[in-house]
Amino acid sequence: MFPVPTSPFPSSQPLAARLIAPVGAAEVRLLSRAGATVLALPNRYSVTYLVMSGDAVVVVDVGSHADVPRILDALRWLGRQPSQVRAVVVSHYHFDHVMGIDALAQRCGCPVAMSRPAFDSLHDGPALRTPPGKAVWPFLLGWARQGFPVLPAADWRVVRRYLDPKAKNPFQSDLVPLDDGQSFFGLPGWKVRLTPGHSDCSMALVHRRAGFLVTGDTVRNYLGGEWNPLRVDPVQMEGTIALLRGLPIRTVFPGHGPVLDGENVLERLKTVRA
Ligand SMILES: [Zn+2]
Repeated sequence: MFPVPTSPFPSSQPLAARLIAPVGAAEVRLLSRAGATVLALPNRYSVTYLVMSGDAVVVVDVGSHADVPRILDALRWLGRQPSQVRAVVVSHYHFDHVMGIDALAQRCGCPVAMSRPAFDSLHDGPALRTPPGKAVWPFLLGWARQGFPVLPAADWRVVRRYLDPKAKNPFQSDLVPLDDGQSFFGLPGWKVRLTPGHSDCSMALVHRRAGFLVTGDTVRNYLGGEWNPLRVDPVQMEGTIALLRGLPIRTVFPGHGPVLDGENVLERLKTVRA
């Protein structure tokens, strides 16, 4: 059994997010099942997940430099050291999920990992497609639902690099590519699935026995749980939805918004227009 800390970890979601998001702001949650443990840590622009088995930790998505101290606090709260973090993972290469990745990886002395398409795009492979121009309005609506977070100076310094699909590798940490179906930094039961659609480089983490699915932005929860309507490739997104619906998932950890729970949780996700 995972030892549950006795004191709660403080929430930091802005009041505006609590008032504006229809289902409420994302909450800190620690879930443990079948030897797998996930801490949902809502951060500045997206939700960070600490994925754990045994002593090892992998951190998924660090949107902002401002998230790094909070993640280090969360590790301490869990009784873990930064040296126990085996990798910091990018669920997909969108700026609101990556700007703090390198800072945390350097603090922990671990590599950065990302899907094979994201890795290749930083090493002279095919460029990742950017979301269509009309995506800016729904994106801004999502920004509002998170309480209009402002970018701190450290994020302004790097944001253009992360918005440029032709940018070269901006990371000082070692980079590791992740392929479909591979196991995950020695964490028992966890597997990588490539889930293109929202972006060319989206990936998910699956733990079948626990029924856990960490989706990045393939799923978001602003309206009670919905397949992300922002899609760089709608056809690939349909394939991804079919793939994920075939898995025995009971808990979804979305890229934005509260954790989604319950039997057939993927069947109950809404399809909404962008
Ligand atoms: Zn995204």
